[in-house]
Amino acid sequence: MVSTDDGLTALCARLSLEEKVRLLTGRDFWSTHRIDRIGLQPITFSDGPSGIRGQAWDERDPSVNLPSATALSASWDRQIARAYGEVLADEAQRKGIDVVLGPTINMHRTPTSGRHFEAFSEDPVLTADLAAAYVEGIQERGIGATPKHYVCNDFETERYTVDVRVTDRALREVYLLAFEKAVSGAGAWLVMSAYNSINGRTASENDLLETPLNDEWGFDGVVVGDWTGVRRLESARYAQDLAMPGPDGPWGEALVAAVRAGDIAEAVIDRKVHRILRLAARLGRLDGYPPKVARTTSGRASAAFAREAAAAGAVLLENTGLLPVDPATVGRILVVGHSARSPRTQGGGSASVVPDHVVTPLEGIRAAFPDATVEFRPGPLVENGLGFLALTQMRNPHSGEPGVRVVFLAGTEEVHAEEIHAEDRRSSNLVWFGGDAPIERTAALRVSTTYTPDTTGTLLLGVSTVGTVRVEAGGRVVFDDDIRPEGTDLGAALLAAPIRSFPVDTVAGQPIDLVFTLVRGPATGMQNALGFRFGLLPPALDDDALIAEAVEAARAADVVVVVVGTNKEREAEGADRTTLALPGRQDDLVSALAGANPRTVAVVNCGAPALLPWAKQVGAVLQVWFGGQELGDALGDLLVGAAEPGGRLPTTWPASDEQVPILRVEPVGGAVEYTEDIHVGYRNWRRLGIEPAYQFGHGLGYTTWSFDEIQVPDSVEATPEGRFLVSVAVRNTGGRAGKQVVQVYASRPDSRVERPVVWLAGFAAVRIAAGASAVVEVELAARAFAHWDGGWQFEVGDFTLTAGAALSDPALRATVTVVPARGQSRRQP
Ligand code: BGC
Repeated sequence: MVSTDDGLTALCARLSLEEKVRLLTGRDFWSTHRIDRIGLQPITFSDGPSGIRGQAWDERDPSVNLPSATALSASWDRQIARAYGEVLADEAQRKGIDVVLGPTINMHRTPTSGRHFEAFSEDPVLTADLAAAYVEGIQERGIGATPKHYVCNDFETERYTVDVRVTDRALREVYLLAFEKAVSGAGAWLVMSAYNSINGRTASENDLLETPLNDEWGFDGVVVGDWTGVRRLESARYAQDLAMPGPDGPWGEALVAAVRAGDIAEAVIDRKVHRILRLAARLGRLDGYPPKVARTTSGRASAAFAREAAAAGAVLLENTGLLPVDPATVGRILVVGHSARSPRTQGGGSASVVPDHVVTPLEGIRAAFPDATVEFRPGPLVENGLGFLALTQMRNPHSGEPGVRVVFLAGTEEVHAEEIHAEDRRSSNLVWFGGDAPIERTAALRVSTTYTPDTTGTLLLGVSTVGTVRVEAGGRVVFDDDIRPEGTDLGAALLAAPIRSFPVDTVAGQPIDLVFTLVRGPATGMQNALGFRFGLLPPALDDDALIAEAVEAARAADVVVVVVGTNKEREAEGADRTTLALPGRQDDLVSALAGANPRTVAVVNCGAPALLPWAKQVGAVLQVWFGGQELGDALGDLLVGAAEPGGRLPTTWPASDEQVPILRVEPVGGAVEYTEDIHVGYRNWRRLGIEPAYQFGHGLGYTTWSFDEIQVPDSVEATPEGRFLVSVAVRNTGGRAGKQVVQVYASRPDSRVERPVVWLAGFAAVRIAAGASAVVEVELAARAFAHWDGGWQFEVGDFTLTAGAALSDPALRATVTVVPARGQSRRQP
């Protein structure tokens, strides 16, 4: 019988050099080339990682919007992570997608990265274990997973060019660990290389793609570049297999010529082709090769799972006993905050999807307290970017239905040359990033709608795009100018294009025709992608009056729920935060409400740490992250105790910007030095003796616990592959069932090797009935005691293990002795 590998080698041999090289660059934005002659079908990709966007990025093909990754990691629950992967695989199958571009497993090295909502944690073990479960959940249903971005894409500033300087030890122990586990543990079929450089070499031209990925971890899948991240012919020499998007790219004819000239061996090309064929075979996209795993759906109701996952990751930071609230005791609830009516259910950038609905906190609270009077006050402004126009206020002049008419025009000389395509859309947020529209041939767009304002006065209308824009309102030109991108990376023109605004006079109820014309600028290398957004900029409001109005209403309420959060500018791909403070006057709002009514619950809607200076003034603080499309219902469940906040912080939460050990990530001379080395996150806070607002692992629940006993093996052999169990007896001493996360930390105070003060060695989530106890088995890797010094090394002797409900709670303590592996001498490193 011919082995799969031999079969693929034979197939590869049937291809011409041109065919092989063509296969190494995408066919379009989201798929690879087909080669009918050998029965190879396209492989189709989608972002990821918290929903499956599919090939088009719009409201016509909605997606389930799961809670973002920080909500998932806050669950500390492998089962949730696995189910999360399964739901993504279901969605991928529904949308005809073969490969999910996720999980994002870069580290929260600083709390300020704008994209942290999409990544898991500041701890390598927590990230690695959940990432592996996520990958397994996807792949066990026959869809490929793509851990990204390999490696050290831990911040956004200058992400395309920055050089991260990091030691081998920190790479192995911290930044690569989750990739290692996703590959050698969960068997990921792809890995995405990053935009940035690592130690002087661009990620797509870096030896790290070979070592450790291939030769140590046994990766035999495809390394796909981040979109436009493969920039030079040179990258073909490295273990970089596929360049996306296509059809253009740096390889193509130049690579064929380089092989013909003998500069690059054809065997190098064959290896990449072989891997792409292997991936196609695994996915069932190559005739004659049954898929590695038959595609099956999980049978899970995705919306119900989104609701469960949002509650499982919600972190109760403070509670004076106010939560849970018995709905029978509440007649009047006041809900405050823009985020209560317009929550962020996901972060901005390539991770975002278009859900078919979002349950807002306000709606969720109304549903959870059906007999109460629920009032709402907006409070001060949170969003200060473009607010998209409400569908109910837009009429498509072509169809007469709610929405927008978009006409695509070809021809470069005369803009109105030829209509080549048209779409009737139901949103003023228009992005073509793949999909069917002939974007590459589009020289200009005409977007029209009839807008019916609900206020009289002067509105500030805005557009966000790149090119020459002309806007007519009621037949009058109100804007005509060039808009140029700020920055050079993919996001600059598409995801975060500049906003330009112009005033338009309106009369409530009187429709006004809006016609936008965009003439695209010269090709930027991304001619097959286009973004055009329009909407309203926030009016100038009197924040003091809005706070006063909310405070007045708070006095009469039985319970106040104030929802605060970050905005689109503060947490999105492509930019980092300069402060962790909440935008606008939200802090003043919460303090004032707390002063007016002690029964105030502050709900925090952000994707990564924020400063909560009022946290001790309110009755409870509940962090709900970017909680996905069912956020509102999950919040309702949490407030009334139908669900328990199951989350524990996956990162340290600072009390101020100033105390954060590493806050800034601006490159110096194009580089960022990871000077803290292995002392990342809480390890650094501990080393420096700084007390944060909330420690890593913190999170309260609705019941009480005791940690009764810890049992560890007397000794553990110094073998990198070894595993052992720590048993922890825990008891739910309260009156209701609850979830606990048993966290096991290691330390070695007298070590001869520099080590973190303390580090997470293992964890397990457990649910226990009221009054019951359980012995929780936490599986630890012997590697928890190893350090990297040219290889995994062990310092024999005693390590301390503690077990408890948080880093700050080492309730139980035991000693484990690391002994030389059998057959080894007792030589110390
Ligand atoms: C992001 C990737 C994403 C890709 C495709 C890039 O800008 O960094 O995470 O998968 O775009 O959308």
